[in-house]
Amino acid sequence: MTTVFGAAGALGHEQVVFCIDSAAGYRSIIAIHSTVLGPAVGGTRLWRYDTESDALDDALRLSRGMTYKNALAGLPFGGGKAVILRPADGFDRSALFGAHGRFIERLGGNFISGEDVGVTVADIEIVREATTHVAGIAHRAGDPSPFTARGVHAAMRACAQHRWGAPDLAGRTVALQGCGAVARELARLLDADGARLIVCDVDAGKAERLVAESRATLVEPDAIYDADTDIFAPCALGGVLNDATLPRLRAGIVAGAANNQLLDPRHGRDIEARGITYAPDYVANAGGVIAGSTIDLLSGTMALALERVDAIFETVKRIFELAREMSVPASDAADVLAERIVAGESRSAALAT
Ligand code: NAD
Repeated sequence: MTTVFGAAGALGHEQVVFCIDSAAGYRSIIAIHSTVLGPAVGGTRLWRYDTESDALDDALRLSRGMTYKNALAGLPFGGGKAVILRPADGFDRSALFGAHGRFIERLGGNFISGEDVGVTVADIEIVREATTHVAGIAHRAGDPSPFTARGVHAAMRACAQHRWGAPDLAGRTVALQGCGAVARELARLLDADGARLIVCDVDAGKAERLVAESRATLVEPDAIYDADTDIFAPCALGGVLNDATLPRLRAGIVAGAANNQLLDPRHGRDIEARGITYAPDYVANAGGVIAGSTIDLLSGTMALALERVDAIFETVKRIFELAREMSVPASDAADVLAERIVAGESRSAALAT
């Protein structure tokens, strides 16, 4: 049986805190993976887990992911994540998030939280009443989606440069899976490039709105994997790159906004073996967190935020170079580069520019 210390030690965590406030129905795990580059920044997730072990695994995996994401983004932050075990329906949100804020406050600034799955901006405002160690989109940076889209666009251009020798996307076809907040902004940028769009969404209304706004062709959600396209952009769900979908893809490039696109790390190797150029998801989709942190936490200007988002282009290129040098898939090279930045052996592209 894996022990708690074994699991956290294997991923290199500094601190894992188990928090309980019975009166509030609050139980959470706050995982601080690394504070080497600065305070651990990461979201709080509210989720009903099948087992406590699943909750711990999620907190450990996601917090390490935040260390890597923040390092590659050139942010002076480490990585952390909080998961709150969702109580039975009818719980008091205000008591729950009040308790969460008090526990974050006790960590003295080592962990700074924003929102994640299951947590709203209003919840984060409750947390903010108990602690200042909060970053949330309700503040100055606003909606992260346009920044995320800008970063995905930069990642796509870096993939195009790597694969086709030029970053230009004019005349290329891009299949967007999902027509939500990020995809809509991305579609505007691709439209301006002169790219052709194929789109889908399980929500017909959202799909039709995007088709009306752009010159996109609409397909059924499942047909997006078979689309005759140059680039496939997962902008809906995680786990979409798997044994069933990879053989169907006709795209030369996969770059999108969705989190955890690879169902399993081995799919990073499979995608490479199929000759597909892949922009690792946590690098491509970092634009929102880069802009939010730069503006809200570091009091940086919008211009600096955009410069850092645009540096995703250079980061993706460096990942491809490292992948070639090491003969590993891009998904593994991204982790290696992040670990080098944390170890002080390399600088992020955002700081190098
Ligand atoms: P969103 O909820 O606005 O859009 C997602 C869209 O995907 C919805 O319209 C939904 O109907 C659609 N969808 C769901 N299942 C689908 C399926 N099987 N096939 C086709 N469409 C499907 O979300 P968003 O903010 O645009 O984010 C998109 C993805 O990017 C998510 O995975 C999110 O976690 C990730 N992401 C977003 C940001 C951000 O700034 N918003 C930042 C980083 C990562």
